[in-house]
Amino acid sequence: MSDKRIIVAIDGPAGAGKSTLAKRVAHKLGFLFINTGAMYRAVALWALRLNVALSDMHRLEQLAQSARIELGLGDGRVLLNGEDVTDEIRETHVAEAASQVSAVPGVRRALLSMQRQMAERNSVVMEGRDIGSVVFPHAQVKIFLDADPIERARRRALELAQDGHDANVEDIAGELTQRDLRDRNRKEAPLVQAPDAQLVDTTGLSLEEVEEIVLRLVRARTSNGKAVAN
Ligand code: C5P
Repeated sequence: MSDKRIIVAIDGPAGAGKSTLAKRVAHKLGFLFINTGAMYRAVALWALRLNVALSDMHRLEQLAQSARIELGLGDGRVLLNGEDVTDEIRETHVAEAASQVSAVPGVRRALLSMQRQMAERNSVVMEGRDIGSVVFPHAQVKIFLDADPIERARRRALELAQDGHDANVEDIAGELTQRDLRDRNRKEAPLVQAPDAQLVDTTGLSLEEVEEIVLRLVRARTSNGKAVAN
């Protein structure tokens, strides 16, 4: 890892607000924002479109290896093989499929190597489930973002409603719980708080408050505060 490159790893369960936060923090710091959940969702979408069985580990690994996934600089757009799939990958059935696809070791291997490459030449804010534990165990800043499950479901419902989707809080709470259980209990790179990650519980906090906490942590954890001037 080069001296100046800084990795901010943000992990946590579904609906904790990682993407919104990571995007804002990356913008403030002038770092790349990398949403790794979007990468798993893109592979899952491709598998669904091709009718690949989500139990077909070999085929899923092949798809992950050949998928051309591009994450737009700062704007959060996601391209799969050149096509903008940003909206489609937000669908609940794609999230569910992503959670299944992400348990396949070969899929994780393929995406892990893309994720490391994306951060080769840039400081990044990368968010997901295993960034501080597996992708960048030596990240200078590790945050585990969590919130009360009902609050997470409410926030997700609000987001979905804003995008014009159906949003029943109870259904969403059920979906998030099921996805988290699978993510926490899988063998390969489960969702876990790295021992040296700072837990940030965002229940009852505004986005601005959480952002401030995270920016303070970044300043405190990087040896040269000037390198991450706000
Ligand atoms: O973060 P998001 O909810 O978009 O992620 C979708 C799914 O992708 C998660 O439920 C999880 O199964 C998987 N994922 C993962 N590792 C990551 C990011 C996401 O397994 N680093």
